[in-house]
Amino acid sequence: MKVVILLGAPGSGKGTVASRLAEQDSSLRHVSSGDLLRDAVKRQTPAGVEAEGYMKRGELVPDAIIAQMIGDLMAGITGECTLLLDGFPRTVAQAEILDGTISKCGAELKGAILLDVSDDIIVERIAGRRGCPKCGAGYHVTGLPPKVAGICDKCGTALVIRKDDNPETVQNRLAVYKAQTLPLIDFYRGRGQLSCIKGGIDPLEVIVAKAKQALA
Ligand code: ADP
Ligand code: ZN
Repeated sequence: MKVVILLGAPGSGKGTVASRLAEQDSSLRHVSSGDLLRDAVKRQTPAGVEAEGYMKRGELVPDAIIAQMIGDLMAGITGECTLLLDGFPRTVAQAEILDGTISKCGAELKGAILLDVSDDIIVERIAGRRGCPKCGAGYHVTGLPPKVAGICDKCGTALVIRKDDNPETVQNRLAVYKAQTLPLIDFYRGRGQLSCIKGGIDPLEVIVAKAKQALA
């Protein structure tokens, strides 16, 4: 198993790029920490119950909760594939735990890809973000609209706005990103494992193509 980390602020497009990449190459597997956590909250598992309040406030859930979920998932994977980790690690402590998990599984860290997007674009992105509560597909009202407004292209379900995509929580998530996740950029750069993609202006296809190059 190989591991690629996607780094970037909330709304930088990590999830969209990762799901496009995985659609185009069956050896890639998209793992979103936010989706794992939202699913645990929905099912009200012990981890989900503990995580819920943090997520509502736009804070990070404790490292141990998410690291355990990712560790369990990685331990259950057999056969060759490349994991695209979207949203994990988000702190240096999580990155260190991930190093341990990778060596325990006999996996290999291929590197980290940073989607670098400016703050004003981030705020606009998150304000227009819509998601499918059934299949998880992501949209944007102007940047990546569904064929029929408000309806998922893939499964016909009515799209929703995520609970934590309100303006106050978004500001908090950006502050948390800067304080706790930005240090990861130097962490991976220092090891020569960082590729950087300007994520703001180019169309999605161009960004996906650049990410593919970084994976090669
Ligand atoms: P975004 O990248 O748009 O903020 P995510 O879906 O990745 O959204 O994350 C949503 C929320 O889930 C975060 O605000 C945080 O509360 C929690 N979360 C996700 N990944 C992690 C992580 N690696 N560590 C701690 N909390 C996390
Ligand atoms: Zn759907």
